[in-house]
Amino acid sequence: MKFDEKLEEFESLGDNHVGTSSNTPMRQDAFKLTNEEKIDIIKDDVQHIMETLGLDLTDDSLKGTPNRVAKMFVKELFGGLNPEKKPNASTFENKYQYGEMLVEKNITVYSTCEHHLLPIVGKAHVAYISNGTVVGLSKMNRIVDYFAKRPQVQERLTIQIVKELQEVLNTQDVACVIDAKHLCVNSRGIRDTESSTITSEFGGKFKEKETKREFLDYIKLDTSF
Ligand SMILES: [Zn+2]
Repeated sequence: MKFDEKLEEFESLGDNHVGTSSNTPMRQDAFKLTNEEKIDIIKDDVQHIMETLGLDLTDDSLKGTPNRVAKMFVKELFGGLNPEKKPNASTFENKYQYGEMLVEKNITVYSTCEHHLLPIVGKAHVAYISNGTVVGLSKMNRIVDYFAKRPQVQERLTIQIVKELQEVLNTQDVACVIDAKHLCVNSRGIRDTESSTITSEFGGKFKEKETKREFLDYIKLDTSF
């Protein structure tokens, strides 16, 4: 395939929001530079974009933007690219022998579409059935947030959350549903402000009809206390 054709294929992959792998595509040398070095480089890049657009960066309101954006990219929006930021997986023994499903619903998701670098905003619902190991509830929120803080594809985010919890909890019985709005769809392109995207990943027992049904029914429960 010629380079031009390849480029075209990548463009349409991105435009159609299709991801290529369940692992975030990273380069070997992703962490050769320190955060501070990355911020320094990205700051110049943001400045370059703004200047190219014709903005006057001597204006007081715009002066600080390149540095602010660079810091936000490295430390916040894309901070979850760094494996060191992964929430540590302290687990507990299931002493009270609770053998039913545990659902953590309405976990806030703030992520970034990797095709347009625009926000993905929504809710994640995560569930597992313990086989003897349990995690603290907030750990599930932290795991969702860690994988959300990357350039993402919603399908991949859903799978990464399930895989991580399967590993931490040492069971296949984990599920995740994400319902989210993509600003690249809502605010530009087709400009459909109402549409949202639902993705799901069901592992182990959650592949069974009844267990899946139970989980989905819990998600639907009105929990506005
Ligand atoms: Zn997008």
